Amino acid sequence: RAKANGRNSISFYRPSMQQSADRRLTLEKELRQALKSHQFLLHYQPQVDHLGRVLSVEALIRWQHPEKGMISPAEFIPIAEETQLILPIGEWVIEEACRQIRRWDQQAVPVRHIAVNVSSRQFRHAGFVARIRHILAETGIDASRLVLELTEGCVISDIDDTVEKMRDLQGMGILTSIDDFGVGYSSLYYLKKLPISQLKIDQSFVRDIAVDPNGAVIVETIINMAKNLGLNVIAEGVETQEQIEFLQAKGCLSYQGFYTGRPASADSFGRRTHPAAPLT
Ligand code: C2E
Ligand code: MG
Ligand code: MG
Ligand code: MG
Repeated sequence: RAKANGRNSISFYRPSMQQSADRRLTLEKELRQALKSHQFLLHYQPQVDHLGRVLSVEALIRWQHPEKGMISPAEFIPIAEETQLILPIGEWVIEEACRQIRRWDQQAVPVRHIAVNVSSRQFRHAGFVARIRHILAETGIDASRLVLELTEGCVISDIDDTVEKMRDLQGMGILTSIDDFGVGYSSLYYLKKLPISQLKIDQSFVRDIAVDPNGAVIVETIINMAKNLGLNVIAEGVETQEQIEFLQAKGCLSYQGFYTGRPASADSFGRRTHPAAPLT
């Protein structure tokens, strides 16, 4: 029976695996054109404090494909990383984010910081810090407005290179945040070695707060560790008032998630007069 089923499932799965491999290849080809054809855009999600005030926004890339519609970064960023295309794409993201904060300044939309995601390959590139310095100078944005979100995987791979780059960034006044904190590596060694400004608690832990006592303990432990290390801490993926209450009680006063604001276009963000849902 198992054998017969196995045979059936092979013939069943083969086309779908083939299809996803085809889609990937097509996307890879199309990704090369996407930047030139202006198919990327940034959405922005607010990061708010316990009073609902917007502290900063995270820029999240979107690919508006002419036929396939909106494609998620979770699908195309890994392809971009494998093909080096992440370098020009990542640079465009930082440029566009800087241009946007400039526009908000001109429109008197109060956004203090803009956070951008940096992929491992982009961070490892020898010219990374110089490119950022150049972009800031060109757009006229003060370095203290920029937050770089780096993952644990990004900073851990070549610790000497990481220390040097992060010291340079810190020297310029740029803030750094460890994204998806807690899911990457169990080693905490880098926390004392690196000039980090903020830990961003991964959304999987935030999701577990109410359902899993261990999840709640982990979140509380991360908050305490961040405090004791003198780091700012923010929770991502916040979806309920209950989660906010827990986080606030444990001393985490910065939140990002669907509950306090979904990612949206720059225009719709600027139109918002009241920053976020009222918090307790
Ligand atoms: P991330 O940096 O951890 O971003 C958070 C992701 O969680 C975003 O997905 C956001 O839309 C989503 N999110 C926010 N609040 C909630 C919530 O309450 N519930 C749930 N379920 N999800 C929430 P998105 O925009 O699809 O981005 C996915 C990932 O793609 C990002 O994770 C980041 O790793 C990567 N990414 C996005 N933009 C860029 C970029 O410009 N450059 C690079 N290198 N990576 C990017
Ligand atoms: Mg992020
Ligand atoms: Mg994250
Ligand atoms: Mg994530």
